[in-house]
Amino acid sequence: MASFPAILPSWKIGDLGEKQLHFIDQAEIEVQGGNGGDGIVAFRREKYVPAGGPSGGNGGRGGSVILVADPGLQTLLDFRFQPVIKAEHGAKGGPNHRSGASGADRLVRVPCGTVVFNAETGELLGDLVGKGDQLLVARGGKGGLGNAHFLSNHNRAPRQFTKGEAGERVRLRLELKLIAEVGIVGLPNAGKSTLISVVSSARPKIADYPFTTLQPNLGVVPHPAGDGVVFADIPGLIEGAHLGVGLGHEFLRHVERTRVLIHLVDGTAADPVKDYQIIQQELRAYGHGLIDKPQILVLNKIDVLDPQQVAEHAQRLSAAAGTSVVAISAIAKQGLDPLLQRVWQCLGRGSQRPAELDLVAAKSIQS
Ligand code: GDP
Ligand code: MG
Repeated sequence: MASFPAILPSWKIGDLGEKQLHFIDQAEIEVQGGNGGDGIVAFRREKYVPAGGPSGGNGGRGGSVILVADPGLQTLLDFRFQPVIKAEHGAKGGPNHRSGASGADRLVRVPCGTVVFNAETGELLGDLVGKGDQLLVARGGKGGLGNAHFLSNHNRAPRQFTKGEAGERVRLRLELKLIAEVGIVGLPNAGKSTLISVVSSARPKIADYPFTTLQPNLGVVPHPAGDGVVFADIPGLIEGAHLGVGLGHEFLRHVERTRVLIHLVDGTAADPVKDYQIIQQELRAYGHGLIDKPQILVLNKIDVLDPQQVAEHAQRLSAAAGTSVVAISAIAKQGLDPLLQRVWQCLGRGSQRPAELDLVAAKSIQS
């Protein structure tokens, strides 16, 4: 299938097939090239020339619909509910042998990594990998011929012309593999869904997903450099999840593919340190290198805590984890900028390199 940046560390694939390795965003669209303009019938009219020769020009060709890869787009969300995307028709021919103007092509921006299929036949039409890659998906119709074209020794005054061809109309299925680079873990009610909803600019729905009940929640978070980073809020990470109890096990597979984890702790919990340790224990028990991933430890819901409690919780968590704590309120949107800065740095996209950060792999934590 499509190539995409190989940004992930290697991991054990387990028994999941290649198809399920990534979140797949999907959309269907219909595209139509412009019709060619008709040729026309005309005769020269000049002073003193009573019966001029045929002069009807050809029609212009219709524009084509062309997909273009644009790194500024991250999802196929914009293609939901799109009417047919059409290129311009070619213009009719003119008198005096003038050809009609060609219809303008219609350029349609799609995210890099988009794979394009004919939705009816399933045929792979192509994929758009790098910035500026183009794929012509619906060709415009050829222009028709004007009567001037049919001039011959036998017929000095032809009245023949042809109509322009219709533009191609095609139903396309677009697929985009999303790789969640950032996973959000934490006990139920820690605020994972809330956090993802307040930091993301788009919420891709996932097609072809093997899970039925709980779905990982995806959000595309705009990065200051202009592109977006996919965050996954992974529900179902609960005690016992590593044993395959409940739904947790499948979801953990998605955490495996992330490059950094946001570990969200509910500041209103009876014992935030204990909550933190439960999740750490899950990550450790699961194996597959989860516990070695860089983690950003986040204390949530500070809007309902007094400053002293915040300081106290942060200090205890920090001591238990051996790393600093970012205090936020997802609901009140406090502390989100510093949190995102940390994320970008962890991903090697900030001004600082990850090594300079105050991040420790969770394995160094005593529990
Ligand atoms: P999840 O189970 O981890 O996805 O948690 P949710 O995002 O569903 O949040 C659980 C509950 O905590 C909801 O009632 C949220 O409104 C609430 N919540 C989430 N973030 C905050 C916050 O920053 N402050 C307060 N006071 N409540 C929050
Ligand atoms: Mg949730």
